[in-house]
Amino acid sequence: MLLDTHADALAACRRCTFDDPAIKPVISSAREPLAMLVGQAPGKTEVVDRRPFAGRAGKTLFRWLASVGIEEEIARRRIYIAAITRCFPGPSPSGRGDRVPTQTQISNCSSWLESEVELILPSVLILVGRMAIERFLGSAPLAELIGRPHSLIGLPGTPTAIPLPHPSGASSWIHGPGHMQLVRASLDLIARRLPTLVSESEHARSVA
Ligand code: SF4
Repeated sequence: MLLDTHADALAACRRCTFDDPAIKPVISSAREPLAMLVGQAPGKTEVVDRRPFAGRAGKTLFRWLASVGIEEEIARRRIYIAAITRCFPGPSPSGRGDRVPTQTQISNCSSWLESEVELILPSVLILVGRMAIERFLGSAPLAELIGRPHSLIGLPGTPTAIPLPHPSGASSWIHGPGHMQLVRASLDLIARRLPTLVSESEHARSVA
């Protein structure tokens, strides 16, 4: 399958130089996805776990999705989780959180993301965090972008982008007045645009 071939090639990518040989691309296991999600970059938990959003930020992200009826197991199977860069960029020099990927890493990695959009033709592109949002929607205050659907007319398949803030807790945006309502509006949009994921989650719960 084309997505397997793509994942094998991505797994072998060493375009960027990292000090630690354990740092390798972290790749989604979804092979029949209906949607894509784009984050920033894996963190140190993902280096060990080898799954995107395996750490604390992932717990929040999957709790958000569960709140609109989409279980983590179904989300991981039906949403191809991509990122601006696929390798852990290292810890932040400040000691708080992870280093932001460099422009060179972003540019080295961008073709993987472009190929995935062409291969998957997602109906929905969930953009998680400012870096992913700016990559597809340009620079604007998050309060003007989150909570609304955005048609990506220039992209293959014309997917609908639905932005969310980064769930890592590193950003204080989420605590601003009315911002959680915007997050809730984005989550409701995701559930409405992806009803198959909600019904598959209901089925998974009924047979558990
Ligand atoms: S960050 Fe992207 S381009 Fe760089 S080595 Fe990892 S997968 Fe390859």
